[in-house]
Amino acid sequence: TQTLYVSARVAPLNRRLLLALVEDRTQAIRLDEVRRDFVANVSHELKTPVGALTLLAEAVADANDDPEAVGRFAERMQREGSRLTRLVQEIIDLSRLQYDDPVDSPEPVAIDDVVAAALDRSRVDAENREVRLAAGGAAGLEVLGNEGQLVIALGNLVENAVTYSPPNTRVAVGVRRRDDLVEISVTDQGFGIAEGDIERIFERFYRVDPARSRATGGTGLGLSIVKHIAASHGGEVGVWSVQGAGSTFTLRLPLHLPRAGQPPALDTSV
Ligand code: ADP
Repeated sequence: TQTLYVSARVAPLNRRLLLALVEDRTQAIRLDEVRRDFVANVSHELKTPVGALTLLAEAVADANDDPEAVGRFAERMQREGSRLTRLVQEIIDLSRLQYDDPVDSPEPVAIDDVVAAALDRSRVDAENREVRLAAGGAAGLEVLGNEGQLVIALGNLVENAVTYSPPNTRVAVGVRRRDDLVEISVTDQGFGIAEGDIERIFERFYRVDPARSRATGGTGLGLSIVKHIAASHGGEVGVWSVQGAGSTFTLRLPLHLPRAGQPPALDTSV
């Protein structure tokens, strides 16, 4: 009925414009659906930790003569609390991304800085989980965009690599130039991802193993944020994984060559 509405209204207009309007309208409906799904998912995801916190608070109240039990419940409350904080932060990140479009005010960003900042975010986590962090590859490359967003994107990939790896393994970030692209890859020796799940992991709130993801504070939003940031920088994110052996996530972004493509300066001295 939406399409009929559009075609009736624009009857006198030419066919191309009509198609454009129908496409616009279809896109608007799709966006609306995505938004509705998102709100439903967010409500569901928020209810879980809030419900757990309420139950745990009741348990603490009932167990006040058993300090050991109180300690145990308090620890779980802390875990649920930090999961809730992270979930809220990621929901804010995701909604802010929709307004803070890097295409509006792109700036040259040094990939070396993005890699260093992304690794810094996971250093404590990696140490706790006995995962070694390493970085290498091409230096001095730049892209155009928003540094803060790129750090969030690469930071999420590194954080996942650390989270989904057993102790005594390595997470390596590699940078290389491929024609007019910069490729930043994050390779782990972790659990890997089954073929059937690979296509879905970039969806909002999708988790291969919800119990494991929850236990490690995961929200299921990390990769959808990465995908969004890659796309808004004119790039993409891909994954290659072997279950039980490890995964490589690769962020591909258009390379920025500061002086490339500019005409030589005019010589006005003659
Ligand atoms: P989460 O907050 O659960 O980590 P993400 O969107 O970042 O959410 O990732 C979605 C799912 O993809 C995760 O729950 C996990 O099952 C899987 N995943 C992501 N990165 C890796 C990885 N490096 N190794 C194995 N599985 C991964």
